[in-house]
Amino acid sequence: PPYVAAEDRYDKLEYRRCGDSGLKLPPVSFGLWHNFGDLTPMAQMKSIIFTAFDNGITYFDIADNYGPEPGQAERNFGEILHRHMARHRDEMVISSKAGYEMWFGPYGDLGSRKHLLAGLDQSLQRLGLDYVDIFYHHHMDSSTPLEETMGALAQAVHSGKALYVGLSNYDGPTMAKAAEMLHEMHVPFIINQNRYNILDRTVEHNGLLDACGQLGKGLVTFSPLEQGLLTDRYLNGIPADSRIAHDPRFLSKADLTESRLQQIRDLNAIAADRGQTLAEMAVAWLLAHKEVTSVLVGASKPSQVLDDLRGIQNTTFSDDELAKIDEIAGR
Ligand code: NDP
Repeated sequence: PPYVAAEDRYDKLEYRRCGDSGLKLPPVSFGLWHNFGDLTPMAQMKSIIFTAFDNGITYFDIADNYGPEPGQAERNFGEILHRHMARHRDEMVISSKAGYEMWFGPYGDLGSRKHLLAGLDQSLQRLGLDYVDIFYHHHMDSSTPLEETMGALAQAVHSGKALYVGLSNYDGPTMAKAAEMLHEMHVPFIINQNRYNILDRTVEHNGLLDACGQLGKGLVTFSPLEQGLLTDRYLNGIPADSRIAHDPRFLSKADLTESRLQQIRDLNAIAADRGQTLAEMAVAWLLAHKEVTSVLVGASKPSQVLDDLRGIQNTTFSDDELAKIDEIAGR
């Protein structure tokens, strides 16, 4: 049967302004880094995307190298979009990124104008779109002049191939410099995408979080569940369908040390006292930060998306809870 979007999909979430911009994003967004490649059945990918959209998620985060086989997430999302959801294109924020290795030779990665603009064209072709809503530079590249990388982002917008631009994995000072250049070129740079979760506090120390607040830029936080560690997934061993078991390239058994497990158990106990699952608490903890626009989750099944979304229901933490969480995370 053809997909019919849930009529009440916009009654469920409160959309949040992305920094000082006019773009509103859902408190929870969905990312396609994993589970959108060759190994996942199309029916499963569809049910995850439909569940997200039916529950108010409008922002779908993609990159050239996601799938995890490079190009596959863009192809698969493009297919789902055009076959089943074409009439909803203008209800969606769809992003892509360039910067990590995509093709052989000196132009296949990093931050050159040559790489970024060719990469964007390739992404648009795989997605079957004329433009993406947000185009990100995927990671800082000190080997390329910042002016060149920002000039390429400006060209992406001025050529109509991106509505907004974003920076990913930048630190505070570099982001601030880039923001000034983009402002001078009249480029709508509105969003940062960085790793942030209870266990990874990098953005608290590299100036990024403060700079987002000061400059009025949005922040979408990736791996909010530390790739699944901040859930009940690994409390009783390693399930066969988990990321550690089926795709250990970025999260492996070696990450699940006894001290890590103890942190997870202790955090799980705090979540239980709050009447939340650990996944819900991990999402809620991020949303309690005023700088955070949206929490960017991944999922291997629709039920996980629903669980993660329930994190919006209780985002108030007592000082005591916050102190306990910090203590556990700091061990
Ligand atoms: P998460 O930390 O949200 O981890 C997602 C994984 O956790 C799922 O695939 C699933 O793994 C497990 N999970 C999710 N919800 C639950 C739940 N409720 N209960 C139990 N397990 C759950 O994020 P990701 O690491 O996947 O990253 C999210 C997105 O962030 C990416 O898709 C991408 O868009 C973006 N990203 C950006 C990067 C960048 O450099 N800009 C880098 C990395 C990610 P399982 O397979 O075990 O079921």
